[in-house]
Amino acid sequence: MIPIARPLLGAEEEAAVLRVLSSGLLAQGPQVALFEQRFAQICQVRESVAVSSGTSALLLALLAHEIGPGDEVITTPFSFAATANVIRLVGATPVFVDIEAESYNLNPELVEAAITERTKAILPVHLYGNPCNMPRLQVIALAYGLALIEDACQAHAAAIDGQAVGSFGTGCFSFYPTKNMTTGEGGIVTTNDPTLAERVRLLRNHGQKERYQHVDIGYNLRMTELHAAIGVAQVEKLEQFTEQRIANATLLTQYLHDMVLTPVARPGYRHVYHQYTIRVPEHDQRAHWIEQLRARGIGTAVHYPCPIHLQPAYRDVPKSYCIGNRDETDEYGVPHLPVAEAAARQVLSLPVHPAVTRADVMTIVREVQALCR
Ligand SMILES: *Cc1c(COP(=O)(O)O)cnc(C)c1O
Repeated sequence: MIPIARPLLGAEEEAAVLRVLSSGLLAQGPQVALFEQRFAQICQVRESVAVSSGTSALLLALLAHEIGPGDEVITTPFSFAATANVIRLVGATPVFVDIEAESYNLNPELVEAAITERTKAILPVHLYGNPCNMPRLQVIALAYGLALIEDACQAHAAAIDGQAVGSFGTGCFSFYPTKNMTTGEGGIVTTNDPTLAERVRLLRNHGQKERYQHVDIGYNLRMTELHAAIGVAQVEKLEQFTEQRIANATLLTQYLHDMVLTPVARPGYRHVYHQYTIRVPEHDQRAHWIEQLRARGIGTAVHYPCPIHLQPAYRDVPKSYCIGNRDETDEYGVPHLPVAEAAARQVLSLPVHPAVTRADVMTIVREVQALCR
């Protein structure tokens, strides 16, 4: 079976974990500090704060930007639910803006229509590892005085004209096992703003400036030394992992682009292919494709089958908080976000991770070609 995701862990990670275990220092030690320093270098930022997950990173970024009840945050409906969940967990309201059909990312041309006097932040997602149009979003954020928080949980080492994602705004990354690099569970916040970094550090650790000096009400969302040690080993391999993902994606596109819609990156955009996501030409065929590919030893996944604004947990979010490119509603008055909804019916991710060999790629190509005939 060619799985849809597989973490690549080796002797380096194993040795690093054993070193931490024998040191006896399991929390808040040198590995976390070293990992933060290495990851900040990757993102070309001054500060980074390691936390317990990507969700923790997003939550702390929102809190550090002082986003809370009564505030609105503009985001995409086409992402993992955590992106919008954190907005609601701090008491704010997500405002869903439709996506671009080609990149699957938040459509910057629709963002201004969604801004109100309650808007506090824009939270775009670099979906599948493809950077959002950050230069455009930066201009809008600056013009309206909004925070820009990047959900870069799928986009380690992605860049626009050489500038790393996570450095355009406040960056939030995840190190869950399926991501482009892993620590088991883990996350990090990246920023060039030392004051913001300090606030995230406080909130991560019970608001303690010094031990038992609580200047704020915080959480325990720390990363352990064991996780950080794995991260230090993984970050060394990130560039090699990324190049392998790009090579696999390039090969897949070379053979599949005239049969199915393959991923598109704008010129100068470094897409790091967290997922290699195609559109199944006839959306009613997707279940058949998944079944056929599985029978031939190819794992696939749908990212994501239901846009967030249509999730049961989002029924109570006012439907006026959906901004699409057409003023259309269904028979119940629920506005459509037509681009995201069409994508949710058609997308299918194929294996692209660095454990996929050239022979695996050719197997995937052959089987997808067979389905197109
Ligand atoms: C994985 C992911 C998250 C959450 O990260 P965790 O580490 O699982 O908490 C958030 N947003 C996106 C887009 C993700 O892919």
